[in-house]
Amino acid sequence: MCIKINLFEIEDLKQQVLSCTKCALAHGRTNVVFGEGNLQAKLMCIGEGPGRDEDLQGRPFVGKSGQLLDKILAACGFSRTENVFIANIVKCRPPNNRAPLPEEKAQCLPYLYKQIELINPTIIVLLGATALNGLIDESLKITKVRGQWIEWQNRWVMPTYHPAALLRNPSLKAETWEDFKKVVAQYRILVNPNHKAPHC
Ligand code: URA
Ligand code: URA
Repeated sequence: MCIKINLFEIEDLKQQVLSCTKCALAHGRTNVVFGEGNLQAKLMCIGEGPGRDEDLQGRPFVGKSGQLLDKILAACGFSRTENVFIANIVKCRPPNNRAPLPEEKAQCLPYLYKQIELINPTIIVLLGATALNGLIDESLKITKVRGQWIEWQNRWVMPTYHPAALLRNPSLKAETWEDFKKVVAQYRILVNPNHKAPHC
């Protein structure tokens, strides 16, 4: 019963987001990127915002960063169809892939809060500084707090590097992998003790 009501609510929210014109990013977009994955996922990954590929397809993390993210998730036994929902701080592409502006984040964040409330993940992985600063605290440094659990709204939140950072600087992969190993370990404790992961 609860699940059905939530599905209606999420579809309602999605329609609202797809027609949003609250900030200037609406003018430059091809598609709004609402997010995708299993609506009953206990794990949510949050990125920054759509890039070129995501804007063209209307789907999150489908470009180079997305391919790396999918590889990392697969190594952890996670997939969009089965057990992850992937969202972003802003749902429309900022021009030239610049970081979203404070005004854009402020207008868009309520949508993310509602997605989190409705999907109700136990664990949230924050991919990069924009996600960390947008959701938790503008003053935190990703290089300082990555790999450390944050308790936020009764959820387990793990900040780690954005996959684009790993593509620019492959030496960050080792730390990222440590962070995802913590996520898998906690997923086994909180969600599914029998969770199978090929590489951890
Ligand atoms: N980078 C992000 O932060 N989000 C996406 O959806 C794609 C790339
Ligand atoms: N798997 C690895 O082996 N390394 C990473 O950085 C991510 C997934």
